[in-house]
Amino acid sequence: MKFNAWFQCINGYSGRQSLSDIIYRCPECDELLEVQHDMEQLKLLSPDEWKNKFKDRVGRHEWPYGSSVWGKKEWVCPNLDNKNIVSTLEGGTNLFWAERLGSQLGLNDLWIKQCGMSHTGSFKDLGMTVLVSMVKQMIADGKSIRAVACASTGDTSAALAAYCAVAGIPAIVFLPRDKISLTQLIQPITHGVLTLSLDTDFDGCMKLVKQVCEKNNIYLANSMNSLRIEGQKTISFELVEQFNWEVPDFVIVPGGNLGNVSAIGRGFEMLRELGLINKFPRLVCAQAEQANPLHRSYKSGFKEFEAIHAKQTLASAIQIGDPVSIKKAIKILQAFGGIVESANESELANAVGRANLTGLFCCPHTGVALAVLEKLVKSGEIKKNDRVVVISTANGLKFTEFLHKYHTDKLDGITSDYAYAPINLPADYEKVKETILNAVD
Ligand SMILES: *Cc1c(COP(=O)(O)O)cnc(C)c1O
Ligand SMILES: [Zn+2]
Repeated sequence: MKFNAWFQCINGYSGRQSLSDIIYRCPECDELLEVQHDMEQLKLLSPDEWKNKFKDRVGRHEWPYGSSVWGKKEWVCPNLDNKNIVSTLEGGTNLFWAERLGSQLGLNDLWIKQCGMSHTGSFKDLGMTVLVSMVKQMIADGKSIRAVACASTGDTSAALAAYCAVAGIPAIVFLPRDKISLTQLIQPITHGVLTLSLDTDFDGCMKLVKQVCEKNNIYLANSMNSLRIEGQKTISFELVEQFNWEVPDFVIVPGGNLGNVSAIGRGFEMLRELGLINKFPRLVCAQAEQANPLHRSYKSGFKEFEAIHAKQTLASAIQIGDPVSIKKAIKILQAFGGIVESANESELANAVGRANLTGLFCCPHTGVALAVLEKLVKSGEIKKNDRVVVISTANGLKFTEFLHKYHTDKLDGITSDYAYAPINLPADYEKVKETILNAVD
């Protein structure tokens, strides 16, 4: 069967561009592009045929279908030759039943999709495998591409660096100095990638990388490049497959540049159009109060949108004031009964503190999503028996400076409600015993 996909303008102009064209915006109206699949061709297989095909692939050896992105290759990027696919067998992350946290919050059916359990410790791997594979194919076909570049708040750069290192393709990352974690800074360095640490914020890095890519045969890897969205949307495929093709009531995801909330929506739309599901969840986008332009727009019923200057937040990967995927996100949220809410610094930090006491190990962005969850339960929007999935976007191990400060009560202006500290003792039986018996009675 001949599956096909192409770039198309999100405003619906009919012109099609090949996925191997170096193009990020519509030539007619300058809006973002999205990948459009030949849905009629995909409909030639029944929902059950697709389900069985997917089930037989994930986790197996046959390249590249063991990846949960490439296990759904026909739905993601059928135009790639398997030999050009650059994969770390990403995806297939576990769905954690947050039984204790759920019951503390008054919920019976709370799940955390652990997307940070991934090659570079964040869910950005899902989209990066698609983009870097396409670049490899373009180079193999003789296109002149000198390098691949991105601006990043730390996770996109880590993923780009790793995938380019796997493929042997030169990469350049633009990072806002002192606004990412130490691990995130080390990731591109250890992969030998040109790492530019710039005296600006993410939005400033974004402006520069766009200028650089425009003229110099450098391919832009930011999520305005909608190839990445195609990989990120497999979060929705994985989720419903893990629930035996049942759709949860709510999906909560932290949002910055807003590519991911759009991608998750696109994933559900595709599942429904192809008959694998028959309803949508409600989508919730969780923002840090310090960087919440979407939340502000939501409060106006999406009538207005204004980019803002994002202020510093512990949720550094979503410290973005001028989100590139704003139009896509609003469109999706309107189709999904979407909710947008924000969490302040104290709320997000303590949401992590609380969740980690139940065995999770959350990053601050997941903390934003969990704090927003708490608010929606309190307001009655989310009810006791609703099935709720929180998308945990990165691995907490990338953000140990944050956790260290949290547990030593050194976060500015925040009282750590769940701080614990190690106890220093001499190697003395009596002292040790006394301490233990005082602590555990
Ligand atoms: C990228 C990222 C997000 C937000 O995704 P957007 O598509 O930018 O909205 C959330 N959390 C983490 C850890 C991220 O790296
Ligand atoms: Zn257009």
